[in-house]
Amino acid sequence: MAKVHLPVVEPGSMQSSLRSDGSRNWVQPADVTGRFSRARKLVFVLLIGWWAILPWLRVDGRPALQLDVEHRRFFLFGATLNAQDTYLLFFLLTGIGFSLILVTTLLGRVWCGWSCPQTVFLEGMFRPLERILEGTREARMRRDAGPWTLDKTVRKTVKHLAFVLLAAFVAHVFVGYFVSTKALFQMMRGSPSQHPEAFAWAFALTAIFYGNFAWFREQLCIGLCPYGRLQSVLIDKDSLVVGYDTQRGEPRGKPKDTSTKHGDCIDCKRCVVVCPTGIDIRNGLQLDCTACTACIDACDEIMVKIGKPIGLVRYDSASGFEGAGKKLLRPRVFVYLALMVIGAVVATVSFRRRTDFEANLLRVQGIPFVVEGPLVKNAFTIHLVNKSSQKMRYVIEPEASAGLVFNIPLAEPEVESMSGITLPVTITSARAGFVQRGIRIKIRNVTTGKSEVMATGTLLGPMGGM
Ligand code: SF4
Ligand code: SF4
Repeated sequence: MAKVHLPVVEPGSMQSSLRSDGSRNWVQPADVTGRFSRARKLVFVLLIGWWAILPWLRVDGRPALQLDVEHRRFFLFGATLNAQDTYLLFFLLTGIGFSLILVTTLLGRVWCGWSCPQTVFLEGMFRPLERILEGTREARMRRDAGPWTLDKTVRKTVKHLAFVLLAAFVAHVFVGYFVSTKALFQMMRGSPSQHPEAFAWAFALTAIFYGNFAWFREQLCIGLCPYGRLQSVLIDKDSLVVGYDTQRGEPRGKPKDTSTKHGDCIDCKRCVVVCPTGIDIRNGLQLDCTACTACIDACDEIMVKIGKPIGLVRYDSASGFEGAGKKLLRPRVFVYLALMVIGAVVATVSFRRRTDFEANLLRVQGIPFVVEGPLVKNAFTIHLVNKSSQKMRYVIEPEASAGLVFNIPLAEPEVESMSGITLPVTITSARAGFVQRGIRIKIRNVTTGKSEVMATGTLLGPMGGM
């Protein structure tokens, strides 16, 4: 391989993955090992495994978690929600939102560094593969800066083909949350011409994930992710962040330099070269920092080598770095906690009050009522939807009302899981002295005996009974 000049990290030259002129500063983070790197690897393996398995898990014979957009139903760990239950998703999403806000206030960007799918897939699959196929940071940079040799062409080709396969895996995991895994498996085995729409989706998602993980990478966190942009308002001086202990580290100096008194930072820049967003943690907390902890492990490694205590770069709060005490419980934590509790209570009550079926009394269109001699007839239909995962039997029981005769040909219908039926209901009353009034029909689930729904309507007839 031709000998080429390695880009050198000069102080202040590698402050971000974007240069001052807006062009991309391609980041090639160095490998790092340490307690946080090992813990993160374990977390990534567990999360990738969990995300890949979740669409295949069943609760009561239904997917544990699936958003079946085509049939407008949502499976959530045993509960089956349909379009009418969309309001429950509001509580679910706001609950997740408030939890994330609370966690960020307490633990900073722990979500970004440890469990965001962007980080997990990039650092847990794509980057390790890149290291296997292209070598260390130095080897990668040397190769990138060098001419297109056979070795470079083969390595790059194999790497990108492998990236496409990994992107296809991520795309199929993603699709598994929207279509049934059985259908997905059949589609994977069949020809694209049998299901062009699904194939187009899988192809487009694979292309998007490939572009993201092979090229866009940290730019998503830095420039696109709204959660990343919110850090400046969610984090305060008591939030846990990854930071550099300026009091202990400054002024920087080489260990051999004994002419001046200096701090523990030997200005080796190891914390900079391992950073996946290309920043220098010694410049203070920056929005580009995803709290990946790589610089903690990198600096700890150096501290051990030079015989100093670890923790020059560490998890701490801004107050902690200034030498002040940590304050875990503070007003904003209580506010977020209160909002979370309110949301959780409302969501729990809403979920508990939700029935596993729906029934609506609908007037037959175009015929408000029919007068037949001395009688007035109102024709309705009951639309019954079974939202549960089993076939159910129901009993339809009109509430007694003086002078009304209910005719319900099928008063004990059976309805298949996630299906609906429409049943005719005719209500007859005397024309003489007719008074418009409300009617109530109770529908009970006799299979479970646990739920009942009241369907209501209004009886119409000639004004004044004429
Ligand atoms: S500054 Fe440290 S914690 Fe932040 S992204 Fe860079 S390496 Fe990760
Ligand atoms: S790794 Fe530690 S010692 Fe080296 S430059 Fe970073 S903070 Fe200083």
